[in-house]
Amino acid sequence: MQNTIDLFRRLFTELLEDEKENTVAEHIPSDQLYETLDLSLKENPLSEEEFEKVLKELVFTTTRTATTGFFNQLFGGRNEKAILGDLLAVVLNNSMYTYKAAGPQIGVEKVILNETCLLIGWDENADGTFAPGGSMTNFMSMLMARDKANEKIRYEGAQKNLRVYTSQESHYSTPKNAAFSGIGRDNVQYVPSNEFGQMDITHLRRMIEEDLSKGYVPTMVNLTAGTTVLGAFDSIPEISQLCKLHNMWLHVDGAYCGSVFLSEKYKHLLHGIELVDSFSYNAHKMLGTPLSCSIIVVKDKKYLHDSFSNDASYLYQTDHDEFNLGKTSLQCGRRNDALKFWTLWKSVGTDGLEKIVDHQFYLADVARDYIRANEDYTLYSFDESISVCFNYKNIPARDICTLLFEHSELLVGYGSFNGQEFIRFVTINAQNEKEDILNFFKTIESFVEENQHLFEKYLVEA
Ligand SMILES: *Cc1c(COP(=O)(O)O)cnc(C)c1O
Repeated sequence: MQNTIDLFRRLFTELLEDEKENTVAEHIPSDQLYETLDLSLKENPLSEEEFEKVLKELVFTTTRTATTGFFNQLFGGRNEKAILGDLLAVVLNNSMYTYKAAGPQIGVEKVILNETCLLIGWDENADGTFAPGGSMTNFMSMLMARDKANEKIRYEGAQKNLRVYTSQESHYSTPKNAAFSGIGRDNVQYVPSNEFGQMDITHLRRMIEEDLSKGYVPTMVNLTAGTTVLGAFDSIPEISQLCKLHNMWLHVDGAYCGSVFLSEKYKHLLHGIELVDSFSYNAHKMLGTPLSCSIIVVKDKKYLHDSFSNDASYLYQTDHDEFNLGKTSLQCGRRNDALKFWTLWKSVGTDGLEKIVDHQFYLADVARDYIRANEDYTLYSFDESISVCFNYKNIPARDICTLLFEHSELLVGYGSFNGQEFIRFVTINAQNEKEDILNFFKTIESFVEENQHLFEKYLVEA
């Protein structure tokens, strides 16, 4: 074991050293992957030296997500306290279904769930669980909504007439989950959004009434706290009233930006969160823990238990259900995703988590200020969001993003809203500073400057 620990320490230290110089790994085109790296599996073992050599090559050529060169998705950075927790979770290798198999780690998970419920304004009747990602916590919310609408479905199978409402700007897990849950993709209604990318309640009301008149059962509304492209927050209070009126489940998908509940300055973006039935957020996005760390909390824990518990005499042999978390989980064996969040939270306190959240909004303000002050840029996104959407000169977003990637300069993606395509820059990595944000723009500018031939046709028009 000691050799392996030494090898890990060597690889990690060398990687950290290399990342200082090279924030983006050398690009390997996908059609050359297997010729470039020896990934093949063979009959014979490798010597220790050969093994270390191929492993190092793999580690060094892998996409770098913790550096100042990665802004491509809604995660990034490397929080060392959280990494420590995750490494220990691997070493301890518990399964989170019972107290017998996980011991005090059950308490680690419970205190995170309890503290989350408390902070959003719920009492001890609330509970929650962890699942492998925001798509899965959204799935859990839909299953509870379905079972609340008709408690027989989990025995008799799905019905055809349930309807789910989500905004046009929401995450693609909703239609997938509708397929998984038996509700059906065709029963997802996409509510248009307003000019700021938030769900439009007038349209929602109209769609529900029309569905009711056709005999459908409006079952659930899925709101988003931080839409995938614009980072917009759907407004909760009025829609919650509408859901109460029609006995519908209300979920808030806060995978991207739900963590704002930890910030005095930004929790107003979740105003009314205490009114919803379930709320999910990804600590691996805004809070910067390693992937994945997704939490769902439910105002009335009865629904969690009703939809997910199953007796199993071979598994549940000691202790109360409160300590046997398999009774409220989507899975059977379940990795310990709580410990990395706990080591972070325990070490920096709730105040430290708040600072992480606030810093991302500060970095987004830096980016928006830069864009607004520079006429080569056009801004398409709005304040109080950590997604900063823009275009540079007349260059199509997808072209510049792909070229930056292929030249190993920067990883950043593009998105669109109302038919306009743009670069989507996310300030989710709280280890970044103002300088790193300004450098991002400088990198784009000098890349375009130094590669005029690639952009000629756009620059002429500019
Ligand atoms: C990222 C994201 C998800 C999916 O979360 P995963 O952990 O990637 O499965 C769902 N909804 C929104 C709004 C997201 O940003």
